Amino acid sequence: MYGAEGLTGSCKACGTTLERAAMREVRHFEETRLLEVTCGGCKRTFLAIHVDAVPIDAVNMEDVVEAAEQLSSARSLSDLFSPGDLDLPDAA
Ligand SMILES: [Zn+2]
Repeated sequence: MYGAEGLTGSCKACGTTLERAAMREVRHFEETRLLEVTCGGCKRTFLAIHVDAVPIDAVNMEDVVEAAEQLSSARSLSDLFSPGDLDLPDAA
C-alpha cells in the first residue's frame, strides 16, 4: 500500500479529505500510475490516475470503466493523454 502523500482533494461521495485515503497501485506505466484509492471516511473504492510529480486527479466512478479500457488498449502515453498533459522529456 502507498501512503497518501501527494493525494489531494476530497472524496466525491462523502467529502472526507483524501489525505487519509489508502492507495494501491493497479497499473504502472512509466511515470503514470493507476491507483485504487480507498476513502478513509466511507470506504468507497475508486480509481485515480497519478503522473509522477503531478497532483492526483481523482476520477468519478463513472470514469472507471472508460479509464480501464483506455489503459488496456493504450500502446503509449499519447494514447491516454493529450500532448498538453504530457510533460515528459522524452515524450514523442
Ligand atoms: Zn468517502
